[in-house]
Amino acid sequence: MADTSTDVAAEANAWVVDNWNPDLTVAEWWQRLADAGYSQATLPEAAGGRGYGRRENSMVRQAISDAGAMGPPTGLGMMLAAPTIAKHGTPEQIDEHVKPILNGTYAWCQLFSEPNAGSDLASLQTSALRDGDEYIINGQKVWTSGGKIADKGMLIARTDVELPKHRGIGWFAFDMLQDGVDVRPLTEMTGRAIFNEVFIDNARVPASNLIGEDGNGWRVASDTLMFERMSLGASPVPLNSCSPGSIANNLEKRAGDMVNRRRSGEAGVPQPNLALWNRLVDEARTRGKLDDPVIREQFTRFYELAEVNRLQALRGRTKGASVASPNISKLMMSELFRQGRELGATVYGMDATLNSDEGLESLIQELIMFSPGPAIYGGTDQVQRNIIGERGLGLPREPGPGKDTPFNELPKN
Ligand SMILES: Cc1cc2nc3c(=O)[nH]c(=O)nc-3n(C[C@H](O)[C@H](O)[C@H](O)COP(=O)(O)OP(=O)(O)OC[C@H]3O[C@@H](n4cnc5c(N)ncnc54)[C@H](O)[C@@H]3O)c2cc1C
Repeated sequence: MADTSTDVAAEANAWVVDNWNPDLTVAEWWQRLADAGYSQATLPEAAGGRGYGRRENSMVRQAISDAGAMGPPTGLGMMLAAPTIAKHGTPEQIDEHVKPILNGTYAWCQLFSEPNAGSDLASLQTSALRDGDEYIINGQKVWTSGGKIADKGMLIARTDVELPKHRGIGWFAFDMLQDGVDVRPLTEMTGRAIFNEVFIDNARVPASNLIGEDGNGWRVASDTLMFERMSLGASPVPLNSCSPGSIANNLEKRAGDMVNRRRSGEAGVPQPNLALWNRLVDEARTRGKLDDPVIREQFTRFYELAEVNRLQALRGRTKGASVASPNISKLMMSELFRQGRELGATVYGMDATLNSDEGLESLIQELIMFSPGPAIYGGTDQVQRNIIGERGLGLPREPGPGKDTPFNELPKN
C-alpha cells in the first residue's frame, strides 16, 4: 500500500483507470471499490478501508472524479453506521454490518430523534427490553432520513430506566424490514419526503446486534453524532453516485448511467461551495448585475466564508485541533447554506422561484427550500454553540437535573 501522499494519488489513479468500466453493474463496481479498500478509505483496514486520513481520502475521490467514474454508495450507512461500527463493534459485527455497507448491499437510516427527544437526545423513550437472546423494541422515531429505503437502522433505545438518562441506552443494528416497523413519509416544503416517522411496535433485534456494551449506547451514539458533524462540515470532492440497498433498486443498473444523470432526491440540493459561487458569478455577469455594489458585497461575504470553512476543515485535521472543531465546521456549513440561498435569490430574482428540469435557477429554488434543514439536522445551530461553549471553551454546563438522577425519576413532557 502507498506510503506517501504522492504514492496514494498515483496508486488510486492507476487503480481507477484499470478498474472503472461503465458497463459494470452498480453492484459490481461497488464490490470492486470495496475489495480495494476505496469505498471508504478512511476506515481501518480491518473494517475494509485503508486507514487513510481525510487528505488521502480526498485524493481517492479526486481520482474517481478525474476518471469520470461513479462514486461509492451514498447515504447514512457510509457516513455514520460504518465508522461507528468500525470503532465500537467486534470483528464479527464489523464483518456482518460494515462490509455490506461498503459494497452497497444495505442502506441504513438513523433512528435517533423522537417527538420528545431531539436536541436533548438523551431523553429518548423508545424502549429495548431484553428477552432471552433478543431485545423487544417499542417506541416512535421521527425525522428519519431515508427511512423508506433503509434495510437497517442505527437505533438508540433505553435498556434500563433506573439508570441516569445518559446511561442505560443501547445502540443497535436494527432490521427495518420486519413486522412491527411502520415507516410513514413526512413531506417537506421541497415537495419530497426525505424523512419519515417510524413507529416500532414489538419489533425485535438480536442481542448480538448491540454495538458496544449494554448501557454504553450514549458513548457510541456520541461518536455517530461526531462523525455526522465532521461529514456535514466537510466539503468532500463531489462524486456522482446513487442510493444503495435492496429497496432503491439501483444495484443491477449500469454504473455508467449513474454518472451523468441529473441528480435527484436529496442529492438534488446544490452544495453552497465555491463551484456554486463561480456559476453564480457567471450568471450575475450575464444578467448585468455584477457591478451592483450590494451584490458584490454578498459575493465577497460568501467567498470569504467558504474559504474560511475550507481552512477550518484543514485545521480540524491537525493534531491539537479543538474538540469543538466539527461543531464549528457544521455551524459554518449551515451559514453557507443561508448565504448561498440569499445570493442565488438576489442574482436570479423572480426566476429563483422556477422549478424546471434544467438550469441553475431550478437548483437555486431547491437551495432556497432546503436551506433551513442544515441548521437543524445533526444538531441545531444553538446546540452546536452550546457544545462549542462547554467543550471547546470550557464554559459552565447548562443547569439541569442531576447527572445521577435515574431516568424514571426525571420530569417528562
Ligand atoms: C432535514 C433533516 C433531516 C433529519 N434527519 C434525521 C435522521 O435521519 N435521523 C434522526 O434521528 N434525526 C434527524 N433529524 C432530526 C434532527 O436531528 C432534529 O430535528 C434536531 O436534533 C432538533 O431536534 P428537534 O427537532 O426535536 O428540536 P428541539 O430540540 O425541540 O429544538 C427546538 C428549538 O429549541 C432550540 N433548543 C433546544 N434545546 C436548546 C438548548 N439546550 N439551548 C439552546 N437552544 C435549544 C433548538 O435549537 C431549536 O431551535 C433531521 C432533521 C432535519 C431538519
